[in-house]
Parts: sequence; C-alpha cells; structure tokens
Amino acid sequence: MNSSAYNVTKNTPFEVFNPSTGELIGHAPNMANDELNAAVESAKSAFVSWSSLSDEELQKNCLAVTKAIQDHSEELAKLVTLEQGKPLNGLGSRWEIGGAVAWADYTSNLSLPAKTLQDNQDGKVELYRKPLGVVGSITPWNFPVMIAIWHIMPALRTGNTVVIKPSPSTPLSTIRLIEIMQEALPIGVVNVVTGDDKTFNLGAAMSAHPDIRKIVFTGSCATGQKVMQSAATTMKRLTLELGGNDAGIVLPDVDPSAIAEGLFWGAFINNGQTCAAMKRLYVHESVYDAVCESLVAFAKNIPVGDGMDEASILGPIQNKAQFDKVSQLVSEAKERGKVLLGGDPGEGLFFPPTIIADLQNGDSLVDEEQFGPALPIIKYSNIDDAIRSANDSPNGLGGSVWSSDIDMAKKVAARMECGSVWINKHGAIQPNAPFGGVKSSGFGVEFSEEGLMEYTDIQVIFS
Ligand code: NAD
Repeated sequence: MNSSAYNVTKNTPFEVFNPSTGELIGHAPNMANDELNAAVESAKSAFVSWSSLSDEELQKNCLAVTKAIQDHSEELAKLVTLEQGKPLNGLGSRWEIGGAVAWADYTSNLSLPAKTLQDNQDGKVELYRKPLGVVGSITPWNFPVMIAIWHIMPALRTGNTVVIKPSPSTPLSTIRLIEIMQEALPIGVVNVVTGDDKTFNLGAAMSAHPDIRKIVFTGSCATGQKVMQSAATTMKRLTLELGGNDAGIVLPDVDPSAIAEGLFWGAFINNGQTCAAMKRLYVHESVYDAVCESLVAFAKNIPVGDGMDEASILGPIQNKAQFDKVSQLVSEAKERGKVLLGGDPGEGLFFPPTIIADLQNGDSLVDEEQFGPALPIIKYSNIDDAIRSANDSPNGLGGSVWSSDIDMAKKVAARMECGSVWINKHGAIQPNAPFGGVKSSGFGVEFSEEGLMEYTDIQVIFS
C-alpha cells in the first residue's frame, strides 16, 4: 500500500459495528480538514501525470485495477457483509463485488474519442473531451463497494484523479478497496478519507473545496441539496444520485404466480435498502388478491439471518436510525392497512420482510422513501389513476410496469415520471445503459458513454 501522510490523524478513530451481531469489527481514521487537504493535494499532484497518459495507457491501468479487485473478491465480500450486514449469499455481498468487477471491466473498455464536427473548405472543427481534475466521491452505506466503483472507474478512465469518502457506517470495505486499487496505480491517483461526520463533516468540506472540480454524490435528497448549495461557490460539476420512491404498476393481464419472484426481488433486494428498489406497488383490482397471495407465498420462504451464515438470503437493516425509520413507517401503516406478512421488528436490527395491503397515497409508507424491507400495496381500478398516483411524488428515480402485453406496458412506461422504467422486472441496472433520476432524485447519469462524459469538459478546436 502506498500509504500517505494524511492517513495519520490526531482524532481518535471511530468504531464500526456488525449490524447482524452488534459486535465491534474495526475502527476507521477520524479525519478532518488537514487530512482532507492532504488527500486533495495528493490527487492534484497525481493528476499532472495521470491526465497526460494516452487513452490506451489509461485503459490498461483501469483493466489492471479491475483484475486486482477481482483477485480480492472474497475478502471484499466478507468485509461488506461484516459492516453492511447483507449476506454473502443470494443477491448479497458476493453479488455486489461481482457487479463491481463487471462494471469496472465494462467502464475500462469504454472510450470517448475526439469527434470531427466539420471538415470542409471553411475549416475543421473538432470536439475533444478533457478530464476535469480532482473528483470528489461521496458514497452511502447500502452498496459501499459497488457505488464506489461506479464513481471511481469512469473518473479514472477519463484521466481524473479521485478522493473518495465513504459513509461512516461502512468505511472499512472502501478503505480496503482503495488499498487494493493503490497497489495497481501510480501514487496519489486514488485516495480515501474517512470520518464520523460528527467531529468534522468531510462531505461538506469536500463539496466546498476549491481544488475539487466535481462531486459525484450518491445519498439522500436532503444531503444532495446541501452538496448542491455548497458546490455553487466553486462552480463544481455535479452528479447527484439521490433517493427514490419507485412505483411498480401491475396491469390486469398478468399471471400473478409468474411475476411473484420478480416483484419480491424488485422490492426487497438488499432488504429494500436500494435506491431503485420498488417502494410502492399499484395492482389492478381484478388481480389484486391473487398478486398479494403469490407475493406473500414467495416472500415467506426467504431465510433472514446473520450475513456470514451461508443459509441467509436477507440480513439485518444496516443501522439503528434506518431501523427506527422503518419501524415507525410500518407501525403507522399497520393502523391504515392490512398486514399480509411480517410487521413486527425482530431482534437487534433484524426486521422481517413486511407486506402491507390496502394502503393509498397519503399514507406515510406510500409517500415516503422507507429504504427498508416493507412494501405497501395499493389497489387501483383505473390505469389513469394509477399513473397519476405513481407520479404524485417528488422523486423520480425508477419505475416498473408488469404485463404480458409489452406494447401496452411501454405506453404506460412512457407516462411515468422517472429516469428508468423496467417491464416485468424492477431495478435491473446494467453498465451499458445510463442510469439517473429526474425531479428530486437528482440529475446527471452514471454508466455507459453518457456517464463517462460527466467526468469531462468539452473543448472545441477550430482550425
Ligand atoms: P446520506 O445522504 O445520509 O449520506 C450519504 C453520504 O453523504 C455519506 O457518505 C455521508 O457521510 C455524506 N454526508 C453527510 N453530510 C454531508 C454533507 N453535509 N455534505 C456532503 N456529504 C455529506 O445517505 P445514506 O443514508 O448514506 O444513504 C441512503 C440514501 O441514499 C437513500 O435516500 C437512497 O435512496 C440514496 N441512494 C441513492 C442512489 C442512487 O443511485 N440514486 C443509490 C444508493 C442510495
């Protein structure tokens, strides 16, 4: 590891706990302004030579990083499980690291060649994409490694250098990820800072830092707004991937038992702690009872337990604040609707998959982003009402339509106010398709060439 001076901090390191057991699993450095400045300086110095590498050299380095991560997959998966709680198994931490490697590989193989816009007797006009400089990445606790990769790889691939700050709830896997990347890269190209957010707010300081040219932020809408405010004075580029309250709409022509598994994983992947998980389900009255029944029949067999146990498919909620929020929303929903499954908090931070029917817009579990394992189901009789209710949200991240008539489903999809709509699945992001929110869910996209462009300035040369 090419460790840097800023890894030494005078503040007492902060503790990191395993959400499955409550046990202390490690400490992370509690950094403040001096350490942040040192990290930014390190990235700024490295930018000079990194940004002058050829496109082929950048790609080669990114592929080397990808291989290094792949070689440490199991170690990273175990760290993610220990600090985040998601099981090793199922759509858990091994799946997260597999996704991170797939995204890193795909992004390494993208490129943004110069474009000739005009070449005639009036002259030549060429469009070049130039790296921005130091990119600041701020990540949440739900997919600590995958989201770090989504931020870092396009930045590196386009010639930028990076300072990343993970959530105080899940810093350890990011610290290890960056150590692994540093072994494959020149000194200073990627840097990590960690802090507890209480002693000093590193994210706020990064958003205002004069030597950071762009912030790529994934997190809540409220924090995203703060990032945008503090970024204004230094005119930073921003990509803001914020919260979602995705709706799924089930049309009358579905086969309820055929869609049950897709509906379940659309809503409960990572225990619902997923930005583009399905957080509200609108079902036509003609299939309402059958869809509820099939979904519950599938959900009740999912094993929930300690993430390190290979038998577990879902784990605990990651932290107490989120657990309390989910408990509060479920307890309010129980007063208003009918509990079909779960509903009562378990031991520690465990909360069973919970399905509550007969709710409607205006109920808090429908209106707010629960970010946990609790799905509200709403009955509708008219598709226009269902679409109006689905769109009646400040968020606009993802959505889904479930039907055996794809053309009909696409017509409904086109009327939904969100960045991605999936037909007969939900949240199935992929590295070759741009992903991002509309309305309060943020702006800018990640993935594909469109995502790569967000890490560049355009320069046009007229000759
Ligand atoms: P959060 O907003 O509380 O924290 C996100 C990050 O911001 C953390 O690293 C935190 O330390 C940092 N931060 C805290 N104060 C800050 C400040 N003033 N300025 C800058 N950064 C600051 O979010 P969370 O609870 O960690 O994550 C859950 C949220 O993230 C949910 O709303 C979820 O929908 C959203 N999310 C969105 C996407 C997406 O792609 N759209 C993906 C995953 C999660």
